[in-house]
Amino acid sequence: MSIQIAIDGPAGAGKSTIAKILAKEKNFIYLDTGAMYRGFGLYAIRKGVSFEGWDETNADERLGGILDDFTMNIEYRDGSQHVVVNGEDVTDMIRTPEVSLAASKVAVVPAVRLKLVELQRKIAADNNVVMDGRDIGSYVLPGATVKIFLTASAEARAQRRYIELQEKGQTDVTYEEVLEDMKFRDKNDSSRKFAPLTCAEDAIKVDTTECTLEESINRIKEVVESKLC
Ligand code: C5P
Repeated sequence: MSIQIAIDGPAGAGKSTIAKILAKEKNFIYLDTGAMYRGFGLYAIRKGVSFEGWDETNADERLGGILDDFTMNIEYRDGSQHVVVNGEDVTDMIRTPEVSLAASKVAVVPAVRLKLVELQRKIAADNNVVMDGRDIGSYVLPGATVKIFLTASAEARAQRRYIELQEKGQTDVTYEEVLEDMKFRDKNDSSRKFAPLTCAEDAIKVDTTECTLEESINRIKEVVESKLC
């Protein structure tokens, strides 16, 4: 049986940074499930789906059957994950604010989630994996070997994301805008009916508000080692 490490938590908690380091050290596959929702979000934008007035009651109808022709493959090249949508590698196109927002909107649709969850479960069944997301421990992999819920205050998460964006040269975004986006996505992710962002009962909660990245990584490693031995 494969070893499955689930890391859930809100946006900007440091999940992907920590999951990548952990996966590399353990020689496991790292699966970023957020990238999958982003891939479908981009597909919906390109199909002309309008997100104005979008909510859980009309979302399914708004997608208008575009899921039927949608395919996704996850490929690994030089150890990095590539998201392939209908044969096109979209990995470099899914990190824009527009796609972030679309991802969190399409993520409320159960049919979208079920399609992506099927692929997530298949990858986890075939490989030792570190998987990060919102619902991995609570829904996707309820029997995961290790479950971690990584969190930090919205302000701390926004501050880290803001610095990251500045370093990447995206200087047109203010800290307040980043904080607002965090709070919007937190609310959206926690309040949806199907597979919301939640800490699984048997997950270990790690709050990194007061921690440096190094301290957070060490804490996670301690948790993982205590569960794997
Ligand atoms: O993790 P990331 O911020 O890239 O995820 C983009 C969006 O995809 C999130 O805001 C969330 O709404 C959605 N998502 C989800 N379930 C997951 C992973 C991501 O609903 N397992």
